[in-house]
Amino acid sequence: MHVSTSEARSSLLFEQALLPGGWARNVRITVVGGRIASIETDCDAAPGDDRLVCERHACALPGMPDLHNHAFQRGMAGLAEIRGPAQDSFWTWREVMYRFVARMTPEDVKAIATLAYIEMLEGGFTRVGEFHYLHHDRDGQTFANPAEMSNAIVAAALDSGIGLTLLPVFYAHAGFGAQPPRPDQARFIHDIDGYARLLDLASTRAAAALPDAIVGVAPHSLRAVTPEQLGLLEGLAKDRPIHVHIAEQTGEVDACLAWSGQRPVEWLLDHADVDARWCLVHATHMTDPEATALARSGAVAGLCPITEANLGDGVFPMVPFLAAGGRYGLGSDSNVLIDATEEMRLLEYGQRLAHLGRNLLARNTGRSTGADIYADALAGGTVALGVSPGFAVGLPADIVSLDLQHPSLAGKTGDGIVDAFIFAAGRSGIDCVWRYGEKLVSQGRHHARAAAIARYLIVLENLSS
Ligand code: ZN
Repeated sequence: MHVSTSEARSSLLFEQALLPGGWARNVRITVVGGRIASIETDCDAAPGDDRLVCERHACALPGMPDLHNHAFQRGMAGLAEIRGPAQDSFWTWREVMYRFVARMTPEDVKAIATLAYIEMLEGGFTRVGEFHYLHHDRDGQTFANPAEMSNAIVAAALDSGIGLTLLPVFYAHAGFGAQPPRPDQARFIHDIDGYARLLDLASTRAAAALPDAIVGVAPHSLRAVTPEQLGLLEGLAKDRPIHVHIAEQTGEVDACLAWSGQRPVEWLLDHADVDARWCLVHATHMTDPEATALARSGAVAGLCPITEANLGDGVFPMVPFLAAGGRYGLGSDSNVLIDATEEMRLLEYGQRLAHLGRNLLARNTGRSTGADIYADALAGGTVALGVSPGFAVGLPADIVSLDLQHPSLAGKTGDGIVDAFIFAAGRSGIDCVWRYGEKLVSQGRHHARAAAIARYLIVLENLSS
């Protein structure tokens, strides 16, 4: 079990804070041992009113979850932007990714993931869902410790301070109908027994190293698992989060139709007990009835707008999904660019471009688009990562403070702050970030950034030599 090294008590005073019930002024959040011990509003802000260590800041938002990410892909950001001889797509991008991943050691993964997690914290994310599929050694053989790669991810979370929901991925086949895996997929592959052992080892290690880690189950995609394997994975998951890539590409939809006569989301909803434990990552290509059925299942749609735009995936059918009460969260996925505000902005802008309208993700007339996106992505993202949202007594103190002297944020109050943060200031509006009560980011910079970049540059040089 994790033993807290300190029951340190600190007190943070915010002129404005977004609490579960709405905006409040002069909010004092007292933190004990990493968790919120009390929340007081309309506090006397006079200097010297508090004998505790008390810091004053302008504005507090709850930290945003990053519900879907492959940390190692941070190392190939910008490497797949050269036009190829055939039409470039997700599938040609994947060839570049496979070549990049072929040489990576656990030490490389740790260094790249540490920098990615630091950038997430700087970009407003305080917990990451690591959809982790790189398991084995470079020759495809299982490491002496089968959880060696997972342990590298846990170590990166520990070094960066980010909250971790580890999602070890089960990957067995190259395509629908149990096609054998390709040689360059050998580092990803398990049978069910090997996967169950990995899950046990990863759970034990994560719980020992991190104060509030969650471990879930992740069938890679419908093309990578058989129906029988999917059923066994559901059994292994019990009450844990279950994440799956689905319907990201039209090619995948066509292959699923050829295999089963059904579209991917349609097939999954018919053949698995999809409920609030589930996160369907992408779910880009759905008919309106599929979008409605997914919304009604209670599952979270895991949307990754930057990556989906970068890969040319398509635009999620948000209008029918939201009309049916659908829940969504956001993920940085390929990490080509890590920025919570950019994900939220692009989510809305994609809908505006597709529907020739504005303010499409606000829930009702007169509501703030930015505030509704923030609240929805926070609620959906935390459900998907197996934790609870926002500021409440007993929850980890995961806090993002904004600089209200930023030209785009100055003079803003309440929901207007969130609109200006997402649509104008972007991540440059972030001042400090606390994770599990510890201030990791000040003036937009993580305290371990320089050391992490130094290690990252050495790894990148080795990988590209
Ligand atoms: Zn992904």
